[in-house]
Amino acid sequence: MDAELLRRYLEYYEDLGFKTLYRRGVSTPASEPASYGEPPAPVAGEPLLQILNDIGDCRRCRLHERRTKIVFGVGNEQTRLVFVGEGPGADEDAQGIPFVGRAGQLLTQMIEGTARKEDIPLLRKDVYICNVVKCRPPDNRTPQPDEMEICGQFLTRQLLSIRPRAICALGATAAKYLTGSKEGVTRMRGNWYKWNDIPVMVTYHPSYLLRAYNTGPKREAWEDLKKVLHFVYD
Ligand code: URA
Repeated sequence: MDAELLRRYLEYYEDLGFKTLYRRGVSTPASEPASYGEPPAPVAGEPLLQILNDIGDCRRCRLHERRTKIVFGVGNEQTRLVFVGEGPGADEDAQGIPFVGRAGQLLTQMIEGTARKEDIPLLRKDVYICNVVKCRPPDNRTPQPDEMEICGQFLTRQLLSIRPRAICALGATAAKYLTGSKEGVTRMRGNWYKWNDIPVMVTYHPSYLLRAYNTGPKREAWEDLKKVLHFVYD
């Protein structure tokens, strides 16, 4: 709205007898994707719906060009544990839900199987699952730094909104993005890091576990999950 239009609005309301007007927080309507302005500052406890609304029909980076659906996140908004992956694959892009393909099925087994073995009453629906980028990178390539930076503002807001007791970073992309570390995931896994004071456990990405030749990495991932589940739920 330009200054002249605003002046006319104000005059109109003055004519109606309004003496004082208050300015509400500004958010970009989903119907106006081309002009985003400055991203809103993250607010602890803001509703996830507000973040989804701000994403709108996002065209902030090149990943929008070939996406089918934006994959925002799924699960319990009041959870104590959030899993962060890299970015949607083909199945996720089609359905708009993270980790629903083969890697997702393995992730579900890992969460629910480990919880069951450890006597922790926890199902996939009890945690929250999302990704560093919300649109599928072409041919499942690794997201580029500018794409992660642009989309990462929404991950930041999701994590600050949920404020979990711990975050589990799945694979190198999420681990590096959340911790800033340049180490490989093999060195990082099983160790605790911090993201804004929230403990981050790094483990292997389920897609990597599906490709692994031996059972070593799978066993290690199970150990990592055990650690994070006991930390969060004991
Ligand atoms: N791989 C990811 O990193 N995220 C998904 O949602 C699916 C596969």
